[in-house]
Amino acid sequence: MAEQTKINKILIANRGEIALRIIRACKELGKKSVVIFSEVDVNGVWVRKADECYPIMGDPIAAYLDYERIISLAKKADCDAIHPGYGFLSESAEFAQACADNGLIFIGPKPEHIALFGDKMASKVAMREVGVPMLPGTDEPIDNIDDAQKIATEIGFPIIIKAAFGGGGRGMRIVEKAEDFKEMYISATNEALRFFNRGETFIEKYLKNPRHIEIQIVADKYGNVIHLGDRDCSIQRRHQKVIEIAPSPLLNEDTRRELYRVSTKAMFKLGYESVGTIEYLVDQDDNFYFIEMNTRVQVEHPVTEIISGIDLIQRMIEISEGDPLKFLQEEIKLRGYAIEFRINAENPKLGFVPSPGLITNYLAPGGPGVRLDSMAYTNYQIPSNYDSMIGKLIVSALTWEDAVRKARRALDEFIIEGIPTNISLHRQIVCDQDFIDGKLDTGYLDTKLSTFNLDAIHNMQNEEIKMKQIEQIIAAINAKNLTVRH
Ligand code: ADP
Repeated sequence: MAEQTKINKILIANRGEIALRIIRACKELGKKSVVIFSEVDVNGVWVRKADECYPIMGDPIAAYLDYERIISLAKKADCDAIHPGYGFLSESAEFAQACADNGLIFIGPKPEHIALFGDKMASKVAMREVGVPMLPGTDEPIDNIDDAQKIATEIGFPIIIKAAFGGGGRGMRIVEKAEDFKEMYISATNEALRFFNRGETFIEKYLKNPRHIEIQIVADKYGNVIHLGDRDCSIQRRHQKVIEIAPSPLLNEDTRRELYRVSTKAMFKLGYESVGTIEYLVDQDDNFYFIEMNTRVQVEHPVTEIISGIDLIQRMIEISEGDPLKFLQEEIKLRGYAIEFRINAENPKLGFVPSPGLITNYLAPGGPGVRLDSMAYTNYQIPSNYDSMIGKLIVSALTWEDAVRKARRALDEFIIEGIPTNISLHRQIVCDQDFIDGKLDTGYLDTKLSTFNLDAIHNMQNEEIKMKQIEQIIAAINAKNLTVRH
């Protein structure tokens, strides 16, 4: 039996919307929150909301990766745990181990599981051993171009080359025919080296337009493993998620059940603890294949929180305190649909180039079924040092049709001025018939982009006309010559 340790104060080794999300969970659990922040994040709303904040001067990215500094600050501030959020140190087994070595609880899985799943090939081997289906591909890193070409030919083109220690679509190359293999292999290896300092790659069969379906797992220290349903993350740009949906609108029920069964069994057999996500590709015949496991909270976790009613960050904290799960699988009732839109400071009309800058006007949507996880506000200067996501708009309803309608209404209400954002793209997607019909795959956005009108003026036009009328009324009131007619 693992021992139970009460956590009183948590250092959040992250920034932006996820830092704010963790602060909210801490407050609701009655725990103190501490943030570290870089020079350029001094105006971050999360810095104000935390109970304590400590600057880390110098390079704005290195500030969130300097784990010796972060651990020493956590100790000085009397914290008993560290929550890593996503990105930065969240998938560093070394950091998780260093926390433990310094008497701090790392809020996440055991270092050995972080290390295992950080190695995409080793994790494929481990998952296959516990009964998870795989795409044909290599089990070991390839460092010789001729061997690589031979293996690719055996698997049969098209194939995909991936960085063994990578992520975010970096070091990934799709090769349609044998003649292109060598050139693609070299560029994948070089990109992997540049981004991850490790050039090892592996090869996998490439599926044409599959769906990306992932399963949310929650597991405690006592071998209790449950799932909280699936998410469909097929709407992607350059292999990066743009919209996430829970549950997948058109997934065959037998496939869904099998995904749940295989995923929970695998995590039980591997002794995994904390929250985690197993990602799969599902082909047109409903066969599914493991691609990777994420050993952290994901950007898209809110959609699962909404359909399950379970606060994933709070449960993550409690699991790391040694609490057993509070619910059995049979007690989990998944209800309705939730859709998350990543709101990015980027310009859809200029190839989605990041467009950080000053938000001159910000008006958030609200009303029933709308949740916003964001760090944006009027007069917030978005630093250019980090990724372009400034928040997530999440809508939910009992049926898919209602969720889509709500999405349209909420996206229409959203006002962000001063910088370009991808809200215009989302507005186009939610009016597209294939999206409305739930017909989604990973090729969806590529096919649709050229047909979308990203200049389209939405219902705001109506609001702008109204604003003009209101301005005239205000002027009349000020001039004291308003006649009210009924
Ligand atoms: P990363 O860790 O870089 O995000 P993943 O392995 O999770 O990479 O894959 C990201 C996306 O790339 C998937 O959701 C899918 O769209 C595409 N992809 C990955 N592997 C394949 C494959 N074998 N066939 C087709 N598409 C793939």
